[in-house]
Amino acid sequence: MKILIVEDEVKTGTYLKQGLSEAGFVTDLAANGIDGQHLALTENYDLLILDVMLPGLDGWTILRSLRTAGKHMPVLFLTARDQVDDRVKGLELGADDYLIKPFAFSELLARVRTLLRRGKTAEAEMLSLADLEVDLIRRRAVRHGQRIDLTAKEFVLLTLFLRRQGEVLSRTLIASQVWDMNFDSDTNVVEVAVRRLRGKIDEPFEPKLIHTVRGMGYVMELRDD
Ligand code: CA
Repeated sequence: MKILIVEDEVKTGTYLKQGLSEAGFVTDLAANGIDGQHLALTENYDLLILDVMLPGLDGWTILRSLRTAGKHMPVLFLTARDQVDDRVKGLELGADDYLIKPFAFSELLARVRTLLRRGKTAEAEMLSLADLEVDLIRRRAVRHGQRIDLTAKEFVLLTLFLRRQGEVLSRTLIASQVWDMNFDSDTNVVEVAVRRLRGKIDEPFEPKLIHTVRGMGYVMELRDD
């Protein structure tokens, strides 16, 4: 298991690298955003530990460029206590978890192990919910035994919902993950795409799987009612 640590504070970076090596991981350490982004894009890591405030490029910019490049390894953000809003931004951009500095190494190690386990399941070839099944290799969606034709974007949108089922996804998050659009972009395109997707995977079937959460976004889940 190979982990990239991007951290400009020498003491923290060294401490993490040493601790993770002792725990049996192969680690690389980048001390600024530019080196970190370069390594993350060119090497294959199973997990990234990413400081938010970095010289060169900040953690969000790096995360965004990774997701855009199709790199979906789990990312654990490190953030200072006075950057609490950053956590929300990081999670919206597709970070998988965050830790507030200072943290105990044992806590970090526990999060790392959880993310690596989850990361492996995220690479499964099939995603499903109720009678909806998506084959990621053949890029095929089937509900109630019926093949459903989806556009490329609809397929990406559906897999995003399925991977993060039970989680409310904001329109801005969807926009950034599916279209790589900025936060201040018009999110009407998201509403239109979700409506079309619903028309294909939900309207002809029961129960409905995509739900609108007023003022927040959408969630895909199986509900009892
Ligand atoms: Ca920093």
